Amino acid sequence: MPGFEIFGEEERRAVAEVMETGVLMRYGFDAARKDRWKARQLEEMLRQRLQTPHAHACASGTAAVLSALICAGIGAGDEVIVPPFTFVADIEAVLYAGATPIFADIDETLCLNPDAVAQKITPRTKAVLLVHMCGSMGKVEEMQRLCCAHRLLLIEDVAQAIGASYHGRPLGTFGIAGCFSFDYVKTVTCGEGGAVITCDNVLYDHVQAFTDHGHAHQTLDRGVDPHRHMGLNFRISELHAAIGVAQLGKLDRMLEIQRAHKAILQDAVGDLPGLRLRGIPDPHGDSATFFSFFLPDADATRAAAKALAEAGVDGCFYWFANNWHYHTKWEHLKQFASINQLHIARLSPPLEFTDPSLPDSDALMARLLSLQIRLSWTEQQCRERAARLRAALSKVL
Ligand SMILES: *Cc1c(COP(=O)(O)O)cnc(C)c1O
Repeated sequence: MPGFEIFGEEERRAVAEVMETGVLMRYGFDAARKDRWKARQLEEMLRQRLQTPHAHACASGTAAVLSALICAGIGAGDEVIVPPFTFVADIEAVLYAGATPIFADIDETLCLNPDAVAQKITPRTKAVLLVHMCGSMGKVEEMQRLCCAHRLLLIEDVAQAIGASYHGRPLGTFGIAGCFSFDYVKTVTCGEGGAVITCDNVLYDHVQAFTDHGHAHQTLDRGVDPHRHMGLNFRISELHAAIGVAQLGKLDRMLEIQRAHKAILQDAVGDLPGLRLRGIPDPHGDSATFFSFFLPDADATRAAAKALAEAGVDGCFYWFANNWHYHTKWEHLKQFASINQLHIARLSPPLEFTDPSLPDSDALMARLLSLQIRLSWTEQQCRERAARLRAALSKVL
């Protein structure tokens, strides 16, 4: 990944097809569009590929998460359990939905630990937002059981793991909704875009309306089509959807390349003493966008990141120190630094959000490195990289 590494004739042709009609809107304009419906086609492909009855494409992954939360009825007074290792979008979405994010520890899978989640459940808990980080899955079955037992909604954020599966079942189909992103650096990229998938007819109907100002989409004439409820404009454009269609058609090939490259890296260093691979509940289902591992302690990990940079191994992420992915860098969210007044800021916000104690997550994150897996490497380049990786890690281990 990212998918833009293998942009080609397919993406260019798809964009040209839309440009020929001049119709950039996903709804209406039936006569002018020459039967080209790119957003619909993208949704049909998502349904087939992800084995789900409903898919709705929208403007971004952030819009997908916010829409899923609101359309599942989550709002003021509700608590949503979230991981401290994710992209800020998930926390923003919970806050803008009007609900309260509650952090729980992650485990060696880099995703929410079901036992830690169980300890954070209160009478106000309404949902668990399970984020499948860095290409692979959290403990989906255990999380499903936990949510079922406590009557909580399970919402999956699959923005970083499209194409990944757990025992053959695509991620995003374990909860009431699965949220995807097609932004500029994701595996399937269309510039900006996202999608919500669900097996729930009512949720789907809410999402398709909510992302288009609440339009019921009952009639072709938008001027008389009723507004069922409030919404926003989170529509995807036909141009973006067209690129998404071309990219999604390449997903299986991308997974194949990523998995082959990751196997080369893993074979090269997997036996090094002191290196522990990230936990993957079903290794066959890994989408292999990253090769992630733990080193013995924070000092060794920082030294390794430095040694890798010096050895010219780029695309190495020490998430613990990065601005966007770990809670310790999210002061603006914890302080509700909103331009307006957020609902939750008026309440007495729980320490589980504003000042969480997450010792397991801190310990894991301080020792975690992830190497991005590129689609554009040749096998030879990947092998050379694997050798440099082994040499650099051997120095610090
Ligand atoms: C990228 C990402 C998002 C947000 O997607 P956008 O399309 O950039 O809005 C949400 N969650 C995770 C885990 C992501 O990586």
